[in-house]
Amino acid sequence: MAKEYDLVILGAGTGGYVAAIRASQLGLSVAVVEKGKLGGTCLHQGCIPSKALLRSAEVYKTVKQAEEFGVTAEKTALNFEKVQERKSRIVDQLYKGVQHLMKKGKIDVYEGFGRILGPSIFSPTSGTISVERSDGTENDMLVPKNVLIATGSRPKSLPGLEIDEDHILSSDGALRLEKLPESITIIGGGVIGIEWASMFADFGVKVTVLEYLDRILPLEDEEVSKEMQRAMKKKGVKVITGAKVLSDQVKKEGNQVQVTFEHKGESVQASSEKALVSVGRAANITDIGLENTDIQVKNDVITVNKNYQTKESHIYAIGDVIGGLQLAHVASHEGIAAVEHMAGVEAHPVEEEMVSKCTYSSPEAASVGLTEKAAKEKGYRVKTGKFSFKAIGKALVYGDTSGFVKFVSDADTDDLLGVHMIGPHVTDMISEAALARVLDAAHWEVGQTIHPHPSLSEAIGEAALAVDGKEIHG
Ligand code: FAD
Repeated sequence: MAKEYDLVILGAGTGGYVAAIRASQLGLSVAVVEKGKLGGTCLHQGCIPSKALLRSAEVYKTVKQAEEFGVTAEKTALNFEKVQERKSRIVDQLYKGVQHLMKKGKIDVYEGFGRILGPSIFSPTSGTISVERSDGTENDMLVPKNVLIATGSRPKSLPGLEIDEDHILSSDGALRLEKLPESITIIGGGVIGIEWASMFADFGVKVTVLEYLDRILPLEDEEVSKEMQRAMKKKGVKVITGAKVLSDQVKKEGNQVQVTFEHKGESVQASSEKALVSVGRAANITDIGLENTDIQVKNDVITVNKNYQTKESHIYAIGDVIGGLQLAHVASHEGIAAVEHMAGVEAHPVEEEMVSKCTYSSPEAASVGLTEKAAKEKGYRVKTGKFSFKAIGKALVYGDTSGFVKFVSDADTDDLLGVHMIGPHVTDMISEAALARVLDAAHWEVGQTIHPHPSLSEAIGEAALAVDGKEIHG
């Protein structure tokens, strides 16, 4: 029998499950349909498991450098099985937390594949969702007033290149590795590629990164990209930019993968035990019944308006499936804004320039707002301030003085346009800059803020002061 709801959400990733909780707070009756596990990519194949592995890699590296801190740690050894077990424990704990939150919010969870039916039974106020149950028992029929599509994304490959998850891996396969390879070629030097490069290198794996563009982390400020490339080189990662990988030229030969690429007009080969393809994510729009609706798709992502409504005003879409910044915190904020809009309360859609973007490699990188180049391209007269962690006492104490904080400010109004960081713990520190952007602060207001001493955040205050040449320790 069909069950009625105010809202049915397709996909319970970070976008979908957070939207469900907010909708329940707003008094809506809610169901989520999830074909995999509550928590989605971020919890099971993304943010959390990758950061758990990164942390183990960081600990391993730190222990090897323990002498520097006056600590003798003999017989340092890596037990990768235990590293994986720790990762799984963390994921399981958080998974249980999401299950609990669904119960607490009285949110019905349907385990199965959700599909939008129509068009005859679809109307602006009600629609039907079929759920093909994962356990193969009888399908469910749900009749919601509103639908939220939050089906997320999956790893993309190069055209024609098959990912076998054995020798040629996606990030999903890399997370499941039982044993570390001796060497790996990473195709793609974006956020995910660089996080993996950093982690593998810290675990002692020989790493080559092939990036098509002329720099790694191409969405970050150019100075951050350069510094990251230097840091990767220092760890022994071979980074080759301007490398065009020919997809029919990634081949398994015996126990090795041969990757052939064009570089400066020449054909070059990289040979390694495994290859990891990290060239972006494809939106999950197939087979979910879009053809039964008027929903529009452009560049393989669902088109929405500023309130996350599709062409069918009662069907909303958020998260990776609508493209843009494919980040967990963006998906969840979009989910909240979408359900607030459908519930008729004031909503705050995501503004890209206010979103913090983080890379959890070692060193970390983080930014909010415009890069120096983007600000100039937008016509701003720009002034910048930069401060290195080398002169920050806490960074010395911590044992990592790599990187800097850079401010980009409007020379005419002093408005803060962007903040860019690379160095220790910057993924935690970026929130101060994000708050400054949201509050429309001027760079000098951040400079006037008293930062605790000693703290890594002093680099933020100093970089803000440096915009007007007023930094103290520079
Ligand atoms: P997803 O999390 O992909 O969730 C979609 C859910 O929908 C899935 O559970 C899927 O099973 C389900 N689904 C799909 N189709 C159907 C259907 N028809 N019926 C029922 N269920 C369906 N972002 C960050 O912000 N920080 C990070 O550190 C970070 N690290 C990452 C590391 C890696 C290796 C990867 C791959 C991604 C990382 N991301 C990170 C990106 C982040 O995971 C995504 O942006 C986020 O998960 C998107 O959330 P979502 O809800 O849109 O989609």
